[in-house]
Amino acid sequence: MTRPDVIFENARLADGRSRTLAVSSGYFISPDQGSAADGARRIDLGGGLVLPGLVDGHIHLDKSFLGGPWRPHRACTAEFSVRERVQFEKEELAQVADVRSRAAALIQRVVSRGTSQVRCHVDIDPEIGLASLEAICEIRERYKHVLSIQIVAFPQSGIVTAPGTADLLDAALRQGADLIGGLDPAGFDRDVNGHLDVVFGLAERHGVDVDIHLHDPDHLGLFELDKIARRTVALGMQGSVAVSHAYGLGQVAPDMARRAGETLAGAGVAIMTNAPGDHAFPPVRLLADAGVLVFAGNDNIRDAWWPYGDGDMLERAMLVGYRSGFNTDEDLELAFAMTTANAARALRLPAYGLEPGAPADFFVVDAENIPEVVTARPARQQVYKAGTLVAENGAFCAAESS
Ligand SMILES: [Zn+2]
Repeated sequence: MTRPDVIFENARLADGRSRTLAVSSGYFISPDQGSAADGARRIDLGGGLVLPGLVDGHIHLDKSFLGGPWRPHRACTAEFSVRERVQFEKEELAQVADVRSRAAALIQRVVSRGTSQVRCHVDIDPEIGLASLEAICEIRERYKHVLSIQIVAFPQSGIVTAPGTADLLDAALRQGADLIGGLDPAGFDRDVNGHLDVVFGLAERHGVDVDIHLHDPDHLGLFELDKIARRTVALGMQGSVAVSHAYGLGQVAPDMARRAGETLAGAGVAIMTNAPGDHAFPPVRLLADAGVLVFAGNDNIRDAWWPYGDGDMLERAMLVGYRSGFNTDEDLELAFAMTTANAARALRLPAYGLEPGAPADFFVVDAENIPEVVTARPARQQVYKAGTLVAENGAFCAAESS
């Protein structure tokens, strides 16, 4: 019988039940084993609401300016253009602190807000090469005791239009990246099949999952989603592919979005949104009802793309709900699931939640239930990673490395 090394008493679950949580070697074990144990450390959670660690399904740890001085946003010269924004970003990042210190500052911030797992897209292009990837891999190792990090090899400057990138992505997947990313096969690379050939080719060769940034609008976006869904099914990758943003789903008539949703659900393609600013975004309730796995991420946090965000996934859940017109408990619970259980499924985490077998990643708040948590975003009183306290009252309190 596994003996617990920590027992958390007086935990209140989302359904109101009081529960003892037993932890052994960083994982939850059966509370029955906990109650019988001698010698385990006991921690009283005081009846606080205990929720599983937040999952940020889309973040860019290599881009944020956090940790340094405020940098005024540089607007695009005319209409917003991804290509111009990428160029501005290169110029800005050349002037700020090393990626390691900025990523470390952001990691401490997201952990203090209750996040225990992120999916991080890291820029790979002919200029930057694998330098950011190497830095983020180093940081991932240094902070593995406080945050679990999936790394996506992300072609921020395109693939077809940035010769050499395909080989760099291939190298990235041999050197620490866990997934292959993509970027607007039509709008950026102007070669849908050429772009997707590389992305899915690398996925097949390395046996990795796919997560593609797709800002392309309207019917163009839906056309590309259909192409992605077909390739997913053809390769038997159902459940292993996500599309981030997929703005087009929010720009077409609901009937058309529903049909696209049925295709995505049938292909097991998940959709990530950050409920962006003033931009149309996927109708998450309609998609969820069609069977699509919808999840959320912060995406950019105080960087060259926009000055907003502080890494808080509860704020993101609120924004998803606010922008979606969510008022009922059922809808608010969907917004919360997008930052917890749904995101964990999209990231294909082997175990997640407060049940035996899952990593003991959780946080404690003063709130009645999940709908209140989404609307009020209460302070995170304590944040635990693998059963160890890593943040308290909004402040990171773990050692910098284990
Ligand atoms: Zn992104």
